[in-house]
Amino acid sequence: MSYVIAIDGPSGVGKSSVARAVGERIGFLHVDSGALYRIMTWQCLLHQVDTSCPEAVAEFSKSVEVECVPEAGCISYRINGVSPGNAIRTPEINCAASPVATVKQVRERITSWLRSLTCFGNLIVEGRDITTAVFPDSPARFYFDASAAARAQRRQLEEIRKGIANQSMDQVKNSLLARDRIDSTRQHAPLRKAAGVYVIDTTQLTLAEVIEVVINALPPAWKKEQQ
Ligand code: C5P
Repeated sequence: MSYVIAIDGPSGVGKSSVARAVGERIGFLHVDSGALYRIMTWQCLLHQVDTSCPEAVAEFSKSVEVECVPEAGCISYRINGVSPGNAIRTPEINCAASPVATVKQVRERITSWLRSLTCFGNLIVEGRDITTAVFPDSPARFYFDASAAARAQRRQLEEIRKGIANQSMDQVKNSLLARDRIDSTRQHAPLRKAAGVYVIDTTQLTLAEVIEVVINALPPAWKKEQQ
């Protein structure tokens, strides 16, 4: 049986950086579930599917195949043998991903892909519905939060560092808040703090501090097994 650490929270709270580092420390594969929603959106845009039309997205989503490959400590994704790279991190995809993620058929497809990944071993999975819908029974569930200003600042730096975009702080913040709104008010598996999750406010914490909080909160047997 595989262990799953589940992390949810809005954009820019540091879920990916923490999940990657914790995974590396304890030997759990990092799974970025948002990348799957981004891939679905990217494919819709490439095939000129109207992402504001749920019926069109639902129909098209049936044809999308994603190969999930464990590689260098994480699950990598390929479409027709190609890794999407930064093509799924553009401002255009940021905008269209949340409407695509409201579509029930998209969520069902991606949820089943995510659950199937336990065949590769222990996982640390981050997203918006991992603690509530994908792996709600995990004994290690976390919800990260941070102020909108801190989240926008981190996201803006990341976009510039990776050469993805050069948006103003206000543009980045508005885009984050628009996505938060859609993600937390949608009908199917909205982003929310589930009962019993370990809540971490990362606004004032360094990456190293958040990593320690997560590792200290894990069931002791999980850590021992990795030593
Ligand atoms: O995490 P990331 O910002 O890459 O996610 C992109 C979008 O995918 C989110 O804004 C959200 O709409 C959607 N998402 C989701 N459920 C997840 C992960 C991401 O709905 N588990």
